[in-house]
Amino acid sequence: MDKSPPPPPYFFQYSLKTHLKSSNSLSRSIIIALGLSLAAGLPVWALWIQGFLGPLQQAFVVLPADPGFILVTPQLRLASFLILSTAVGAGLLVARAGARPSFPYLGAGFLILSLISLLVSRFLGIDILFVPMACAGMSAVFVVQAHHLWRLDLALTAQMNSIATKTAQASETASKQRLMSGLKLLDTVLDVSDAVVFVRDENYHLVPAARLQSATSGPLTTSRNSTWREGVSFSQRAMDSGQLILREANDHDSTPLVALPLRHEDRLLGALLIRLRENFSEVDRPLLLAVAAQIARNLQREETLNGSMRRGPFTYLSAGAAQQRLESSYMLSGLLTEERFGAQGLSESSDGLAVAYLDGTLAHVNSQLLGAAQVTEVEALKLDVFGLLDCFRCDMFDEPAIAVRRVLQTGDAYERELHFSDRSQTLGLRISLRTDLLKARGGVREPLCLAISVRDLTQRKEYEQLKSDMVSLMSHELRTPLTSINGFAELLAADEAVPEHLKEFVTIINNEAQRLSRMINTFLAVTHLERKDKQEVLKIPLKLNDVVRDIVATLQTTARKKRIRLVEQPADRIPPVAADRSLITQVVKNLVNNAITYSPERTTVTVSTALEAEAVRVCVEDRGYGIPPESVDRVWEKFYRVEREGHDKDEESTGLGLSFVREVVEQHGGNVTVESEPGRGSKFSFTLPRL
Ligand code: ADP
Repeated sequence: MDKSPPPPPYFFQYSLKTHLKSSNSLSRSIIIALGLSLAAGLPVWALWIQGFLGPLQQAFVVLPADPGFILVTPQLRLASFLILSTAVGAGLLVARAGARPSFPYLGAGFLILSLISLLVSRFLGIDILFVPMACAGMSAVFVVQAHHLWRLDLALTAQMNSIATKTAQASETASKQRLMSGLKLLDTVLDVSDAVVFVRDENYHLVPAARLQSATSGPLTTSRNSTWREGVSFSQRAMDSGQLILREANDHDSTPLVALPLRHEDRLLGALLIRLRENFSEVDRPLLLAVAAQIARNLQREETLNGSMRRGPFTYLSAGAAQQRLESSYMLSGLLTEERFGAQGLSESSDGLAVAYLDGTLAHVNSQLLGAAQVTEVEALKLDVFGLLDCFRCDMFDEPAIAVRRVLQTGDAYERELHFSDRSQTLGLRISLRTDLLKARGGVREPLCLAISVRDLTQRKEYEQLKSDMVSLMSHELRTPLTSINGFAELLAADEAVPEHLKEFVTIINNEAQRLSRMINTFLAVTHLERKDKQEVLKIPLKLNDVVRDIVATLQTTARKKRIRLVEQPADRIPPVAADRSLITQVVKNLVNNAITYSPERTTVTVSTALEAEAVRVCVEDRGYGIPPESVDRVWEKFYRVEREGHDKDEESTGLGLSFVREVVEQHGGNVTVESEPGRGSKFSFTLPRL
């Protein structure tokens, strides 16, 4: 059989493409270096032809020892070849090996060449043209290196631009809003009467960028106001001193003042001035400094994003563009700082959380996960993602590597409930591949990292167990008195001595008690099933066509009473399924009963079977009232009953029938579906895996 190999995980495809791209660009860069070296060598060659290099050349030749010799130079062709090939050789060396590693070789080469020049001229009377060759070589080195730097500079500018653009997209909240919310945060801790964020305008004057005024503070808005001017100069002092400065309340002035410079990296961006109602308490200093640092980062980001990035091929030579790049790098460092906060936030989660890079290294593990894995922080430093998952090895999770591979290959999350009997703990483990929401190639989102979460389900499981134990206990306890009520009511109904007018009451008691018994039985059946493990259901080969035939025969009378046509449509050659006969019979019965109950008179209910790829489907279709779209997904919930206009709730209805159907079908490895349209009818179906 032709079995094509599974596709490689998609992140391998990216590295392959990058490799192909890089080998292409290598040959391109060699051709460019060749061209540039020739272009750099040619002017030197031209200068030499014009004789401009003659005086310099004298320094590297010695007149021949033999007075009969005259100094000869190589022929024009040979000379041109020597000059240009030196340029190409030096240029290519720098392009391939980089400037720094090639400098020692180039230096040594030129030194040897200069010695040869001196010796050859002295003893053989030949000028080897050292100066033009060295000049051509050096100018090629210079041009190739300058071109390399220019390319890097373009890439750097483009990269900075893209970071700035991405940040601008990400920071949807307007900067002013961010500044205001920073001030409000301060107001929750300090007793602020007025707080202002000052920035410098183009004339280096302090102007307000955001201001929070409490309702009771006075009108301090104009720059003519002396209090305002005092605040500005106080802020200026803080900026000059580079520190937080305080002025406590005194006899002259009753408002305590605090001002501190807003600084990010080595950039001074403005000042924060706060007028307090009470003297500043030193306990609040760390918080104030932290909020000021965040405000400074926001200002820096704003400044960088507002100064539109200069583009074009000559940014290399522009000091303004270099300044912008520097500011972008400040912004970047601010973003890195804020990024760390996200990881810190994970520590607060009650779930265990870990993030792993796609090389398996753990980027972050919170303390809850360390606790669940039973490893210390120091031990965790030596673990990779497999080592960490190994700590959760158990019967239900014996091959962590396979789980990780599946997640990487399919992109689907892996979820398991792990039970550790030695420590009586149940953990919900989830391993998922986080993908980039913005970047997708060929419809596949770019994978970013692995996320592992572990939730302690022990208490919930215990609670569920307790609830279901209580429910079944209660139901059993209710059944005993009900049996007595039923029995005695039947006796009374049959008793001739009971007067006729009381008989009616006895019949009501009898009917209601029976209804209560039926409800309790269904309820018990559902809770009982929920507690059963999948393996516990007794499965024997069962022909679904037989089950359908029996049920249709049994319910024919009920259908006829409502003048409903109940039809069976079995498919040919239906293979058996492995199932518990009584449970599946009850499932089909519930569906057909519902179809009859929720259909008007003179309609048809069809029960059919069909063979699908790996399963047998049973379908119950009616032309009844249908289910409104908002309720369709909820009908499987326990106790859920659809309310229909103009219909009273059916007394017999418990809202348990369909939840029983789903529970049974899923325990048999099948699934349930429903399609319905109000006024036109419903189609309930379920599948069971074929044998
Ligand atoms: P019940 O035992 O009360 O019928 P079920 O769980 O079987 O409870 O059904 C839940 C709800 O789904 C019912 O209240 C009913 O309104 C709706 N329902 C079930 N089957 C059908 C159907 N064939 N047509 C319309 N509504 C239905």
